[in-house]
Amino acid sequence: MTEQRSVAIWRDGRAVTVPAGEPVVTAADQGLVRGDGAFESVAVVDGATPHLAAHLARLARSAELLEIPSPGDDAWRALVDAVVSGWPAATEGVLRLLLTRGPGDGAPPTALALLAPVPAETLRQRADGVSVVSLCLGVPADFRARAPWLLGGAKTLSYAVNMAAYRHAARAGADDVVLTSLEGRLLEGPTSTVVWAAGGSLHTPPLETGILAGTTVARLFERAEAAGWPTARTAGTVDDLHAADAVWLLSGVRGAVRVHTVDGVRRGDTGLTSRIRELLDG
Ligand code: PLP
Repeated sequence: MTEQRSVAIWRDGRAVTVPAGEPVVTAADQGLVRGDGAFESVAVVDGATPHLAAHLARLARSAELLEIPSPGDDAWRALVDAVVSGWPAATEGVLRLLLTRGPGDGAPPTALALLAPVPAETLRQRADGVSVVSLCLGVPADFRARAPWLLGGAKTLSYAVNMAAYRHAARAGADDVVLTSLEGRLLEGPTSTVVWAAGGSLHTPPLETGILAGTTVARLFERAEAAGWPTARTAGTVDDLHAADAVWLLSGVRGAVRVHTVDGVRRGDTGLTSRIRELLDG
């Protein structure tokens, strides 16, 4: 059985649909050679991308930080339309928008869209929750704010460290990771934002740490505030996760996934997960 996928690439000013499995970049593409590019992962639900605008805004910001000329929102929307049209509404999808510096020598950047079904493991984690281990990223919490060359806040294609963190977690018997700073301050997951409920508020780490500005946490916090649930950017530690009423990992495709174990210690969610999901999906 061939994997269900849909691919489109920006060529000569238009979105061109490419048969899945056919090559779309050359060996010299700097995204391939150096991970020099940016990306977004966007949820496709009922054949639609309700949160695309927030992802396009962040992609534009990443492109600016990387100094890669993006083809612009209209081009991205044309690429999205090309891959989403004909996609079965019943299949929840993960849409990847990829922008690389291209092959160089004056050639334009590479811009493409790739749509695939949400992995079964993501669906399982949504239902069952996850265990996480805390792993140190090795930089002080305030360092990336002073070090623009580290591209804090950009969603770059250089995710080899993030993927290695997952493999490390798997060897430790955990599903996911919470990255911490050198001083032990909470940062983020390798592909998610950390949120915890404590003292009647929702908390997430401050952006000054160089973490990615999550589109999902932004939507959750806006709606929580509107519903009278206070939110805060809080410089927490792993101890705060142990003490919290509930902890979640958030991202566009997974939504809110309950964390049931932190560094081998079980914890509850005091029934708050359904409330969080109502806010996110409402
Ligand atoms: N932090 C990192 C490092 C990520 O890769 C992601 C998601 O891809 C997030 C946070 C969550 O961002 P969003 O909610 O926009 O998907």
